[in-house]
This record gives sequence, C-alpha cells and structure tokens, in this order.
Amino acid sequence: MEKTQTYHKPVNLLTTENHKTIKGEKLGFKTYILYMAPFTANSKGVNLCPHASAGCVQSCLVGSGFGGMYPMVAEGRKNKAEYFLANRTEFLAQLDFEIARAIRVNKGKNKVAVRLNGTSDIRWEKFKVRDGKNLFELYPQIKFYDYTKNHLRFDQELPKNYSLVFSRSETNEEKALELLSRGYNVAVVFNKLPKTYKGYKVVDGDISDLRFKDKKGVIIGLKYKKNTGKNGAEKNKAALTSGFVVDTINVSSLPKQVNKVAMKMAA
Ligand code: SF4
Repeated sequence: MEKTQTYHKPVNLLTTENHKTIKGEKLGFKTYILYMAPFTANSKGVNLCPHASAGCVQSCLVGSGFGGMYPMVAEGRKNKAEYFLANRTEFLAQLDFEIARAIRVNKGKNKVAVRLNGTSDIRWEKFKVRDGKNLFELYPQIKFYDYTKNHLRFDQELPKNYSLVFSRSETNEEKALELLSRGYNVAVVFNKLPKTYKGYKVVDGDISDLRFKDKKGVIIGLKYKKNTGKNGAEKNKAALTSGFVVDTINVSSLPKQVNKVAMKMAA
C-alpha cells in the first residue's frame, strides 16, 4: 500500500523577516532562522526537543508571537518538522541550498547568521550534508548560533563557528550553574530582568538575538514572551508556577525586610 505523504516541500525552510532578525540587521547581520514544530508535535511523535521540561513545553515559544496568532504559521512549522522526519536527505540539501543563496544575496551588504533550532533542539553538527561535511564545515564564514537544553552538547568540541547557549528550565538549574562556572553562557527567562542572578551578571538578551556577540560566562536574560495562542492566559500562569520563568516581580514586590531575606535565599 502506498504511504500517504505527511508533508509538502516548503518554498523556504529559513525565515528572515521577524522582530529578531530586524534587530540583527541594525548590527550588520541578516539572520536566517529555522522554525519547526517543537517537542513531539508531529505525526510520528518523535521528540525534536529531547531535553525539554514540562514547563518549557507548556510555555514554548511556538505559541507566542506569530506562531500563536496565526494557525497557518503553526501549520507551516509542523510541515517542516514532517519534512525533516520523512526525508532527511532532501531536507538537508534544501538547507544547504538556502544557506548558499543567503550568502549570495547578502554579498557586499550584510553578514549572514543562521539559527537552526528556532523551536527545536537538534544536534545539527552530527548530520553530514555534502562531501562528508556538516553545515558548519561547509560554511565556515557563517555565524551559526542556537539555544539548547542538552548539556551533553557542551562535553564535546563544538564547531568553531557555532555559538551555543544553554537554556535554563525549572529542572536543570544545577547544570546551568555548572556550565556558567565553566565559562559558558546560559539563557534564563524572567518576568522582569534583574541585574544579577545567582551571582552572575544578567545581560539583556532581547536587544539582539546575535548570541555570538555576547561576553562569556554571563546570563542571557530573556523577558518572558506572553503566549498569544489558545489557552494563552492559562499557559502564561503555568509558565510562572512551573518555575520555568523566574519570577523576579513577586520577590521584589515583597515588603523591604522580607524582600532582602528572599533575595538572599534566591542568590
Ligand atoms: S526545548 Fe525550546 S523549543 Fe523545545 S519545547 Fe522547550 S522551549 Fe520549546
């Protein structure tokens, strides 16, 4: 029996027109991001975010912004995940083609940055694409960057043109602190950015998404982006109660004396 195809070939895998990429343009970089449906949101139930926590799945970025507002955007991301799972060779060849094209069209105008895990957590370095090379080896002139919850990726040598930031969740804070002590950067989602967290300097990660420009050994503070999709209010509440979003507002709204004690305990 003939298998039903679960995807159609998208015109583009990489997206370049959103608020993140526009901020990068001011700094001379055209950023291309691959957004796929995260976690197990595909027909095969394959987990594209194997280290996701319950809190991050619940309040995943895929439900915020355009992904939450427009069903077509969510469907497009699911289609890309299906394509990745059903036809890896063709998928990687298309990525290869789109990166080469991005370099061509930006020549003499912008530098190119690529983020492959917009809403997934895949070890792209393990896929050979062409001539026995992965995408990082094929394009040494490109700045690649990503966020990951997979701490094991930091135990192996990463490609030199790949900046990887560990993402803290409610279940991996110990790992996050260990990686900070080893000089890596860690992204933490706050409802309000503090100046420091657990003794580490917090920089505003929303000014731009170009993570390869950050100093080392700092916390990349990201402000929680409200979920605008179905059951958004419920999900926003859960993001805080699960501990995925660090609540700095309620700590600082406590009376002064109690607040000092609470801050000490949190530090
Ligand atoms: S790991 Fe990232 S992309 Fe995956 S479910 Fe969690 S927040 Fe979403």
